[in-house]
Amino acid sequence: MKKNYLLTPGPTPLPTCVTEALARPIIHHRTPQFRAILQQAEDGLKYVFNTKNDIFIFSSSGTGAMEAAVANLLSPGEVVLTIEGGKFGQRWTEICQAYNVRCDVIEVEWGRAVDPKEIERRIRTNPEIKAIFTTLCETSTGVVNDIEAIGRIVKDSQAILVVDAISSLCSLPLLTDTWSCDMVVAGSQKGLMLPPGLGFISVSPKAWNLINKSKNPRYYFDLGVAKKALDKTDTPFTPAISLIIALNEALNMIRQEGLENIFLRCKKMAEATRQAARALGLELLASSSDASDAVTAIRLPEGIDGQALVKTMRDIYGVAIAGGQGVLKGRIIRIAHMGYIGEFDIIIAITCLEKVLCQLGYKFQLGAGVKAAQKILQ
Ligand SMILES: *Cc1c(COP(=O)(O)O)cnc(C)c1O
Repeated sequence: MKKNYLLTPGPTPLPTCVTEALARPIIHHRTPQFRAILQQAEDGLKYVFNTKNDIFIFSSSGTGAMEAAVANLLSPGEVVLTIEGGKFGQRWTEICQAYNVRCDVIEVEWGRAVDPKEIERRIRTNPEIKAIFTTLCETSTGVVNDIEAIGRIVKDSQAILVVDAISSLCSLPLLTDTWSCDMVVAGSQKGLMLPPGLGFISVSPKAWNLINKSKNPRYYFDLGVAKKALDKTDTPFTPAISLIIALNEALNMIRQEGLENIFLRCKKMAEATRQAARALGLELLASSSDASDAVTAIRLPEGIDGQALVKTMRDIYGVAIAGGQGVLKGRIIRIAHMGYIGEFDIIIAITCLEKVLCQLGYKFQLGAGVKAAQKILQ
């Protein structure tokens, strides 16, 4: 018997109320019944985004909502600022380039957060910059960026602040309105405890001004069309009905626990994971001031093959964690502590990590990681 555990930074495990909702008979979407469901989802999303702005729901993964931001805000040839401190920061550059939007790129060492002062310098020296594309939690490195500080800088500038909060929503504090985030992008399969398939995007009045001038091509992801429908509590195309019904179940669970309690739980699990890694003699990729409470990236010692480690944990013992991406492939592992991942899941992941590290010949005191994690969780 192999029991499976999922501790990847998306997808994350599903609570029973979500899987039960997904199994219900389908209903039609142009009905008062579905409109009530959509309204409830809209209200719940506003709670978790901390915003009064409209939030649009697309049937796509998170990247679809990222593309929607670029397609709706800009015109070919315009200039934006992107920040490359990991794979998802790079994705902003790639999407912009696909739309012939020119990118001024801030290169950040993978494992570090961007310095908000550098953003200030760039937008001051280049008044052509129309938008700044940022990542709250850079999932590929386990780093959290200071969006609050960036928001203070961008707020009174000509530019729009766009935030990828795909792995942060419901795992880390996100104050869309207070931090002056003009567009926030999220997805369903991380902190929201749903399967992949929904992309979300919030839009501020400042962002609408730019959208109205944008000439980028768009059809499915046209926010103007989506807004006309949303004003009638409707969607332009067939929505992912079952996922939206399940979303309301997840949002109910989130309201019951309370966002603040969820953040504290993630923080505690993150600290337990970090202390366990240190106790095993392993280094963390993110410096301690930049470490995200949604996912922890751990460096592997010389001679330990990260891909083999992840594969053995998953295929032999059923414990799925993530490896490194891009330049970090094979060199790090990533353990998620978000969504429906609980403290005993973390204990299981560390136990399994110890077991496989031991088999791969790494020398340490068996149980040291679990003991360190237990101390934090006590
Ligand atoms: C997971 C993730 C994405 C990609 O989302 P998909 O749903 O796979 O398209 C983008 N950005 C961040 C920060 C993520 O964690």
